[in-house]
Amino acid sequence: MIKENVQKILQELPEGVLLVAAVKSRSIEEIKDAVDAGVKIIGENYLQETEKLFPYIEHIVKWHYIGSIQKKKIKKIVKIFDMIETIDSVDVLLEIDRRARDEGKIMPVLIEVNSGKEKQKSGVYPEQAEHLVDAAASLKNVLIQGLMTMGPFVDDPEKLRPYFKLTKELFDHIRVRETKNVQMKYLSMGMSDSYKVAIQEGANIVRIGTSIFGPRRR
Ligand SMILES: *Cc1c(COP(=O)(O)O)cnc(C)c1O
Repeated sequence: MIKENVQKILQELPEGVLLVAAVKSRSIEEIKDAVDAGVKIIGENYLQETEKLFPYIEHIVKWHYIGSIQKKKIKKIVKIFDMIETIDSVDVLLEIDRRARDEGKIMPVLIEVNSGKEKQKSGVYPEQAEHLVDAAASLKNVLIQGLMTMGPFVDDPEKLRPYFKLTKELFDHIRVRETKNVQMKYLSMGMSDSYKVAIQEGANIVRIGTSIFGPRRR
């Protein structure tokens, strides 16, 4: 089933839209099936899980960090991952820059936007995103490559459209400013229920778990 699901999604995605398979809580066998079927980017929320998976899969794929960031884990996150999609503070940005410098690496990152402005959600409020972009301009070992958003939990993906629209507008606004160390290339939005709406609104990275692997067991 996993292979068929991946192939179906890959066929549906317009050219230029990247699939990130969100693999939290899935087994190595399940993930390998997805990779065999053509998944090129794995999205992980948890460092510990990643450390278990990594020896089996390593650099056959790219790794995107899509979980919340604890400062003490940044060193390892920077080491393993090819992109961090969930930047939400200047503090985190500075620590990533420092650790990336130690690694001799330039870390591509996306700013996570709390497009629904929900108190309990991670990400920066849309009006704070430019502040993070400006903070990154002087950093040599991080490269801001775009924005990521989840949007609120809703019963109908259509209801996410305004939040995706808002995030796309912010993306375009930052892109035309042409700030140093900022290359606005990626707009990561849309999950299993909502990726079609997200693509219509300009997403070029979609993060999909359930539609590939089925319902989560935990
Ligand atoms: C789990 C997760 C996804 C995928 O969600 P599905 O509804 O299972 O497709 C996408 N993005 C993030 C940040 C996630 O944690």
